[in-house]
Amino acid sequence: MSGQRHPADMEVAIVGGGPAGLTAAILLAQLGIDARVFERRSTTSRLPRAHLLNQRTMEIFESMGVAGDVYTMSPPQDNWHRVGWYTSLAGDLPGQGKEIGHLPAWGGGPDRDRYAAASPARYANLPQMRLDPLLRQHAEARCPGQAYFNRDVRAIRQRGGYVELDIAPTGSGAAETVTARYVIAADGGRLCSRLLGVQMIGPTQLLDMVTMHMTADLSQYAWDDEVLLYYFIDPHGQGTFRGALCAMGPDTWGTRSREWAVHQAFAWGDPAAKDQDLLQARARDMLGIPDLPMAVHAVSHWEFEGVTAERFRAGDVFLVGNAAHRHPPTGGLGLNAAVQDVHNLAWKLALVLRGRAGDALLDTFHTERHPVDHFNVEHSVRNAGGHRRVAVALGQSPDNSIEQGWRAIDKWLEDSPEGEARRAAVAEAVGSNADDYSQLNVELGFAYENGALIPDGTPRPAGCHPLRDYIPSTRPGHHLPHAWLHGPTGRVSTLHLVPTGGFALFTTGEAACAWRDAATTAVNRTGVRIDVVAVGPDGDAEDLDGTWQRLRGSSAHAVLVRPDWHVAWRVRTLPADPSAELGGALTSILNRKDVHG
Ligand SMILES: Cc1cc2nc3c(=O)[nH]c(=O)nc-3n(C[C@H](O)[C@H](O)[C@H](O)COP(=O)(O)OP(=O)(O)OC[C@H]3O[C@@H](n4cnc5c(N)ncnc54)[C@H](O)[C@@H]3O)c2cc1C
Repeated sequence: MSGQRHPADMEVAIVGGGPAGLTAAILLAQLGIDARVFERRSTTSRLPRAHLLNQRTMEIFESMGVAGDVYTMSPPQDNWHRVGWYTSLAGDLPGQGKEIGHLPAWGGGPDRDRYAAASPARYANLPQMRLDPLLRQHAEARCPGQAYFNRDVRAIRQRGGYVELDIAPTGSGAAETVTARYVIAADGGRLCSRLLGVQMIGPTQLLDMVTMHMTADLSQYAWDDEVLLYYFIDPHGQGTFRGALCAMGPDTWGTRSREWAVHQAFAWGDPAAKDQDLLQARARDMLGIPDLPMAVHAVSHWEFEGVTAERFRAGDVFLVGNAAHRHPPTGGLGLNAAVQDVHNLAWKLALVLRGRAGDALLDTFHTERHPVDHFNVEHSVRNAGGHRRVAVALGQSPDNSIEQGWRAIDKWLEDSPEGEARRAAVAEAVGSNADDYSQLNVELGFAYENGALIPDGTPRPAGCHPLRDYIPSTRPGHHLPHAWLHGPTGRVSTLHLVPTGGFALFTTGEAACAWRDAATTAVNRTGVRIDVVAVGPDGDAEDLDGTWQRLRGSSAHAVLVRPDWHVAWRVRTLPADPSAELGGALTSILNRKDVHG
């Protein structure tokens, strides 16, 4: 410990240059850590994959200097905040070309104000095939020469105090061995968990999903300019959704999008999923446009599964992103959680590597992130079941023949009491999918119950709807509530007052002096930066509309916030000896018992 240099070639080796690995490279470079990325492909991913970047992710991207570029490349704010269910886009049958229902999504429509109030950052929508190159560009600018593409990591050996990695140019025989103090496994689940013997727990091979990235003119068929994601339910879906269509821009969006991702679901092992001609024919059939000209750019397969690694730390290797948890994209949480995993880990690695925190701080990566990521896995699998509810309400079942399925859809359209009842049931089933598309509390409200924090015994705040209602709180483990304050340079979010890699102690103007003295003592002892932020008329920033006072709550006279914006500790009143209290809290949060000096 004590900040001595270890003999390894680098401080952190990152296996995989996807969104998790590249984000880790940028965050660690910002913290002055010698981190290198090894990616086996020659380029970043060319597949569409993720596209929805929630507000917590965009807060992190803002702190990395990436958000501006993401917003510039995303579609205009107003034209992608809806999800719709359809029987098809067109077709000759009476039941074809019908909208089954739609919902506002990702902070649109009636959700707009509550999403906007919850964070200084906006939701963004940028397909991963455009995001990953952007992250690579930023990583290469931030840490030139540290991102190695065409490098296949073949083996990892823990050596007690450092890790050895065998790395070869992709496709060639000769591997070179390098050493790192720590390794971040951001390999998407392809290598490290297997090599390290970490079990992935949960159901696998639920469906074989095929995504076709294509250019097609759907402007005369896709009739809702607000819809980003179309789900199709028809008798071929066997009682659930048959597939989906997602607008991909890149320059025009909505109905005039030029590029699209078409997703089709197949039973695991169905050889039809591999037949390229059949895939195109089935896509046209699902859309109800048999002669649609399409230029297919790429076809990819992904497994519909719901697995979480039993442990996120294996010795000196940390599993993040898809290497630690994989689930269906229903909820749009995979890439977001990958970025949030890395944000949780980076500051901890930096403090431990600089000898300012004990190695046990790194154990809190698992303690904190595992419950959140495991919840996301189960939530995403549950969300996928929402489409089944719509299909069942529409009279669809795997036991029906195709003709029976269409007859059930005709019934839903019928001007009769039965038709009316079916329409009401379908509308209710569509509405229940708001757990996926208005899930503000899932996206912003995740909190840590144990870890690098000191619980204060207060109960977790709860709204009426546990998935949708986000209740900002300064309870330890929760994310710092966002409030706009007014400082010397104008409007600033509470989040922006937390220094990169350091802590912030929010308090009131009257108590500022006592806490500044306490912080100075703590900084001198630990070497960890602590900015005291006095909020009030005579403080560093003013809370003109009282939002911060309301959100911080009466239990919080002083709130200590970690570099990743989660609250580590709070006190109700000014203690008799603030230095001793703050020093004791930091020692415990940073696991400094085993730090000497
Ligand atoms: C259709 C679809 C839609 C999605 N939509 C969303 C969404 O809207 N929002 C969201 O948050 N998530 C979404 N996701 C999930 C998201 O794509 C993943 O969660 C995300 O890519 C995980 O990032 P990662 O960096 O952990 O892993 P990956 O993106 O898989 O990257 C891993 C990298 O490691 C490299 N690698 C593997 N093995 C080695 C090795 N031995 N040596 C060197 N390099 C190696 C790989 O080549 C790869 O580049 C979606 C996924 C799909 C399939």
